[in-house]
Amino acid sequence: MKVLWWLVIVGAVVGALMLIVTSTSSAPQEAAGAAIAVALVVIPYCLTRAVEGIRSERVRNEKPFRVFNTKKCPECAESVQYEALRCHFCGFRFPESKG
Ligand SMILES: [Zn+2]
Repeated sequence: MKVLWWLVIVGAVVGALMLIVTSTSSAPQEAAGAAIAVALVVIPYCLTRAVEGIRSERVRNEKPFRVFNTKKCPECAESVQYEALRCHFCGFRFPESKG
């Protein structure tokens, strides 16, 4: 995702250049140039933040999902809830573990 950060830098440079160019001309154009410069910097930055956020969130969500509280049925080898007394895949009854 380094490309997106380059987009942010390029957007900032282009925005700054536009500000310099427009600041030499008349006042209404200056305001428009400033708005474009802000948009050029903010939009790629927001996009980058959004993409990075989605990526990190996906990584965070993936891990604990699989490491759930399950045990393996000796009869059909399916994963069932650790507290289950009976396998809901094949009907195997787990011996009750004491203590
Ligand atoms: Zn089973």
